[in-house]
Amino acid sequence: MKYCKSIIEAIGNTPMVKLNHVTQGIKGTVLAKVEYFNPGHSMKDRMALKMIEDAEKDGSLKPGGTIIEGTSGNTGMGLALVAIAKGYKCIFTVNDKQSQEKINILRAVGAEVIVCPTNVAPDDPRSYYSVAQKLNREIPNSFYPNQYDNLSNTQAHYETTGPEIWEQTAGKITHYAAGVGTGGSMCGVAKFLKEQNPGVTTIGIDSFGSVFKKYKETGIFDENEIYPYMTEGIGEDILPKNVNFDLIDLFVKVTDKDAAVMTRKLAREEGIFVGWSSGAAIYGALEYAKEHLKEEDVMVIILPDHGTRYLNKIYNDDWMKNHGFVEERVYATAKDIIL
Ligand code: PMP
Repeated sequence: MKYCKSIIEAIGNTPMVKLNHVTQGIKGTVLAKVEYFNPGHSMKDRMALKMIEDAEKDGSLKPGGTIIEGTSGNTGMGLALVAIAKGYKCIFTVNDKQSQEKINILRAVGAEVIVCPTNVAPDDPRSYYSVAQKLNREIPNSFYPNQYDNLSNTQAHYETTGPEIWEQTAGKITHYAAGVGTGGSMCGVAKFLKEQNPGVTTIGIDSFGSVFKKYKETGIFDENEIYPYMTEGIGEDILPKNVNFDLIDLFVKVTDKDAAVMTRKLAREEGIFVGWSSGAAIYGALEYAKEHLKEEDVMVIILPDHGTRYLNKIYNDDWMKNHGFVEERVYATAKDIIL
């Protein structure tokens, strides 16, 4: 018999899929690492497992404990699955920018979810960072993984995602691109790949409204760079410890609209049904690839999560139209078909 002893063993070893249509006119091979094949439908399962196992080892998480985290949903899902397999409770704080689907999913897997306002400063007591920290202080036997500054996050990708990519490309990878939120998936993979071949170029994808690109280019934390945007999971108004700027060669910024339109193209032209930040990663990486990729180059782009979590947003024509992201509705509706 061949089976996983618990859902935990189903984490990792995700497939890599060649992009054949959205890459027209681009030289070289462009491969997508499709992370929705993880059991929680995102790459965050990997770091959730690592953060919990490292906390068990160093004694900060004890049997029967409560895991408290500020999470945009995917980390929560990963933590919730691992917590179920290992017998912990979960409380998550999320910001009100997140899809209702993501919040519903977390509640479905038994977590308590507290929704906090998005447009307040990180040190405001109402922010989802502050609320998570307060609960951690107040609840006995609780553990606050803090995915932003917990280096087990980067380490998870250094130990699993990086080696998988190296093996799947038989060491031929020349370019790696990923959206940067906490920085774990970018920097863990980048560290591993650059150790194998220092010539690998790493491209961080950032949002307009986030501080990363400007900080990389000037060393200045510019508050003017911070303004509201919608793409979920990438860009930040803080500098997380998991972002190691030395491992990221350059950043490309992508608008909410370009990311959303590309995400829909991936579904329709490649059959890869992914989340909004995946469209951002592909759009930004291909902008770079158009100018720089050569015939023999191999670019790998990480696609963090699954499209179902965005059905009421970017996959909804009316929503897209209301936000000015498309001119006209594109998808056929049940009504169109009956007529
Ligand atoms: N996309 C999505 C949908 C995410 O949830 C995250 C995690 N914040 C990212 C991209 C960015 O990944 P990382 O935190 O590893 O930088």
